[in-house]
Formats: sequence, structure tokens, C-alpha cells
Amino acid sequence: MKSSKSSFSLFRYLSPYTGRLLFNLFLRVLSAAFTIALIIAVAPLLYILFDTGTGIEAGEAAGGIANAGIEMLENRVNLSIAQHGKTFTLIIIAASLAAAYFLKNLCAYMGLYLFSPIRNRVVAQIRNDMFRKFMLLPLSYYAREQKGDLITRITANVQDIDNQMLNQLQQVLVDIVTFIFLVSALFFISVPLSLFVLVLLPIVGMATSFVSRSLKKKSRKLQNINGRISSQVSESLDGLKTLRSYNTTHYAIGKFQAENRRYFHLNSRVLHRINLSSPVSEVLGTIAIVAILVIGGYLILSEKSLKPEAFITYLLAMIQILPASKNITSAYFNWQSGKGSLSRIKEVFDAEELIEEKPDAESLSGFEKEIRLENITFAYTSEKQTLRNISLTIPKGKFIALVGPSGGGKSTIINLIPRFYDPVDGKVSIDGKNIANCKIRDLRAISSLVSQDTVLFNDTVYNNILVGNPSACREEVIEAAKMADAHDFISEWEDGYESVIGDSGTKLSGGQRQRISIARALLKKAPILLFDEATSALDTEAENRIMAAISAYGKKTRQTIVSVAHRLSSIRNADEIFVLEEGEIVEHGTHETLYAQNGLYQKLCLMQDTENGAQKTTS
Ligand code: ATP
Repeated sequence: MKSSKSSFSLFRYLSPYTGRLLFNLFLRVLSAAFTIALIIAVAPLLYILFDTGTGIEAGEAAGGIANAGIEMLENRVNLSIAQHGKTFTLIIIAASLAAAYFLKNLCAYMGLYLFSPIRNRVVAQIRNDMFRKFMLLPLSYYAREQKGDLITRITANVQDIDNQMLNQLQQVLVDIVTFIFLVSALFFISVPLSLFVLVLLPIVGMATSFVSRSLKKKSRKLQNINGRISSQVSESLDGLKTLRSYNTTHYAIGKFQAENRRYFHLNSRVLHRINLSSPVSEVLGTIAIVAILVIGGYLILSEKSLKPEAFITYLLAMIQILPASKNITSAYFNWQSGKGSLSRIKEVFDAEELIEEKPDAESLSGFEKEIRLENITFAYTSEKQTLRNISLTIPKGKFIALVGPSGGGKSTIINLIPRFYDPVDGKVSIDGKNIANCKIRDLRAISSLVSQDTVLFNDTVYNNILVGNPSACREEVIEAAKMADAHDFISEWEDGYESVIGDSGTKLSGGQRQRISIARALLKKAPILLFDEATSALDTEAENRIMAAISAYGKKTRQTIVSVAHRLSSIRNADEIFVLEEGEIVEHGTHETLYAQNGLYQKLCLMQDTENGAQKTTS
């Protein structure tokens, strides 16, 4: 038993697309560059419209490069006016603006066009990997976790990764690049003003992180409640008949409402915080603009170190920075909230796959001799031992029964053979090979299990049986159904084997469901058949008939049958019967020898005979 290092990382999922992501980033940079070009182009436009050419002379400006840059543009405009006239120059500038606007949007669209499939693939890949992980996790994991909660993780939580992280990532790329470019443009226009802006930025950052504090924790709690809500829905719908029969639907409703109320309150707080992000950054932005107006006005009027059109361009750039920084802030908020879902997904990936195959696992090509359980001790939890020092041998071709009072550990023994659980102590071997050292796939290939809870899928009867051996032909399916006593009732249906059986086989009776499950197991033709109260929903006569047919077939084909049974009449002809009580084998032998012992087995037989109206109790 060792832990697996799955350690989920979102960036690992993104890494195969590094090239495309970088190209996407390049397009974002271009798009941002066109945004800047748009802003810069406004200065010469203003220069022409308001004829401000007589402002500050080149080189006189305290703003250095800033005003020099604007001067350079204005010189070019002057040249163009001299050569082609004002109107033509205006048209050229307006056309350049339109072109820059078009190119900016084209680059942004191409970036989106590239990113959307990446985002989609990452989500699909996470879901696939998560489902595969679900299929690998040990049964003990599912005894701990709630089904609805796991469904929420693979559906809603993965969707959150898409909406709150990947989607934001795509948008935030544009905003970060635009932000960096615009801040550079600010410096280009006026260094003193921009130094002042630089002082403002950390203040905005601090205010933002204050508002977003605890968002991740809250969002995680929210997702946990969401999971519990799903669990309650699935549990209540599964148990609807029971709830109604006990008139306790109000109990389920109350429990659901309490959880929903918890979700409502917490979500209100989370939304409250998320909603705060926008006004906080807007208010801070406005304060910044006002402060810049004052300082800029001073630089123009008193210091005469800034040209009015340069200042207007500066303000335009500043106005563009505001939505970009607002988007970055809200992306950060969403990212924080998405992290709650991310941690729930990580938990699944980090769960231990307790039943792991060794790297050098041996093949198990078949089953020739015997299954041996040697000194097995097993515990589901640290508080209680379920099996104590169990040793038994199951020879090939024999019919073995496990009987005893409820909770004695019979199902647990059955589950150890296909390695659904590993023993705490002792070993299970097949033909002398410790199954812990064998390939799990090989092990499961040589055994068929029919458990207490029949598992059927919403598909045709035919396909449900075919799950046992997808390569079987129709004749084999029918043969298996006949042996399981299912052929007659299936044939009576209008669509026969093509009848769809409904979600989990809800359109069938308990006995019909069990017979289809048995047919499926028989179709697999595995050398080891494990029946865990597989016939408990059938009437005694049908149960005895099926078990007799299967054991006769087993003898002929040398199939080994291990059957857990409560109705002892069904296992009377077993080659060996093991009687379990509180995790220990207390008696074993054939029906005759055990009955003669005056022990627990006899007591159980007598009790059942009394229940059945003191029918034949041959000994
Ligand atoms: P029954 O005849 O009622 O089916 P059984 O003899 O097959 O009972 P097991 O199902 O093997 O008994 O259970 C043996 C003990 O292990 C019981 O006390 C049960 O409560 C406990 N147990 C079974 N499954 C789990 C589990 N997944 N987690 C914790 N304890 C479990």
C-alpha cells in the first residue's frame, strides 16, 4: 500500500499548449500595441483641430522624451499639412485610427479563437482524468465519500475551473499586456505624473487584497455545501419510496432546506465581496484621475512643462487603464474563488489508490488449482477487526459456501478474492501466487462477482448481459440467460432482449434484476464465480433451481463457485460450507457433517426450517 503522487496542477494541463499560448500572448501584445497607437494618434488630431502648435517649443519641455515624442508626431503632421493640406491630413489620421481599431480587434479575436479550444480541451482532459481516477479509487474511498458530492466535483467544480480560471486567464492576458503598455505610454508622455501613478498602484493593490481576503476559503466552503446538496438530492431520490412510506419526506425537505439556507447565506457573503471589487477599483481609479487632473493642470499652467494635447492623451490612456486594472482585479477575485473548486478537484486526484499494482506484477493466465486464504486479518477501520485469522482453501471446480449470522464477514471474504480490499495481515493466493503480486486485470479476468446490490445500466437487457463478455455472440447471451432463469421472462416482453430496463433497472422486479446480473456473470465464463447473496431476491424454489443448475454446470466446466447465502437450502449441496461468526470461521464441513455437529450451522438450519413452516430438514 502506497500513496500515489497524482498532485493535480492546472498548469500541467496547460503546458502541452505552450506554443499556442505564447502565440496567443503575442497577439494580445499586438492588440494592446494597437490600443496604444489609437491613443497616441489622438494627440496630432487634437493638434490639428485646436491648432495648439504654438504651445511649448520643442526641447523646452521638462517632460523630456514625453513632449519630444508628441513634438515629433506634430512635426510630421505639420509636414503633411504643408504638403497635402489640413483636410487630407485629418482624413489620413482618421483612417489610421480606424485601421488601428480594426487591427486591435482582429488580433484580440484571433487570440480568443486560439485560446477557446485550449480551454475546452483542458476541461475535457481534466474530466476524463478525474473519471479514470474514480474508476481506480478503492471501494473504501466510496464508503467515505458521498456520491452526489463526487458528481459535483466532476461537473460543477470542473466547470468553475473553466469559468473562473481559464476564462479569466484568457481575458486577463489582454488586460495585463494592455496595462503594461499603457503604463509605459504614461511614462512616455510624462515622467513626473507617472511616478505619481506608480505610488498610487500599490495602494490600489492593497485595497484589493483586503477585499478579496478569505474569498478562497469561503468559496471552498461554498463548493463543499454544493456537494452536500447534490448528495442529498441523489440520496433522497434514491430513497424516495422509503421516505414516502414512512411519511418522512418533510425530514428530507428540512435537511435539504437547511443546507440550501447555509449555501444562500455564505453565497451572499461571497457575492458581496465579489461585487465590492468593481466599485472599490473604480473609486480608487476616480481618485487617481482627480489627483492627476490637479497635478497635470499644475504642470501645464504653472510649470509649462506639459502640452495640453499631451495631457489629454495622458488622460485618455489613464481612462483606458481603469477598465484594464478593474478587469485584472476581478480576474484575481474570480481566480481566488475558482481556487476553492480547484482544491476540491485536487483532493480527488490526491486520494490514495490503495489497491495498486506492483510495477513488476506477475501475469495470472488462468486458474488451475486452488485459492488459498492464509491467516487473514482484515479491518475496515482502526476500531474494529472484521476478519480474524481466517484460513481456508477453495479447490478448483468446487462449490464453496459461506454462511453465518449477519455482519460475520462473509461479503468481506468474497471481496478479498478479486482484491477489492487488501488484507491487513495474511495473504490470498491463487495457484500459489500471492494476488498482491499479480496483475489486477488478470485477477479480475478470472473471476465474476454478483453482489448483493445488483448493478444494471439504463440500456437494453441484451447489452446489460453483454457487459459480462462484450465479444460474446447472441447464442451465448441467450444460453447464459437461460441458465440464470431469465430467458423466459425476457422473451415474454414485447421487445425481448432489446427492452430498455430503465435507470438502474427500475422497470424490473428485484428477482428479475438479480437474474440478469447472474446471466451477466455466467456469460463471462470466468473460472471463479463469486455470488454474494446473488439470489436473495428470488423465491426459495427459483433460488434452489438456479443454484442447482449453476453448480451442475460448474462441475461440468470445473468452475469454482463461492457463494454467500442466508437461505441455507440453496447451498445444501455445496462441497464445503464455512460458518462464520464475528469474523472467525467457527465450523466447516459438508451440510451433513455440520448438521450432525449440533453447532451454529444446525441452529441456523433449524431456525430457517421453523420459519419455513418446519419443512424438510434432512440430515
Ligand atoms: P451480511 O450477511 O449482513 O451481508 P456479512 O457477513 O456479509 O453480512 P460483511 O458485509 O462482510 O458481513 O461485514 C462485516 C463487518 O464489516 C460488519 O460489521 C460491517 O458493519 C463491516 N463493514 C462492511 N463494509 C464496511 C465498510 N465499507 N466500512 C466499514 N465497515 C464495513
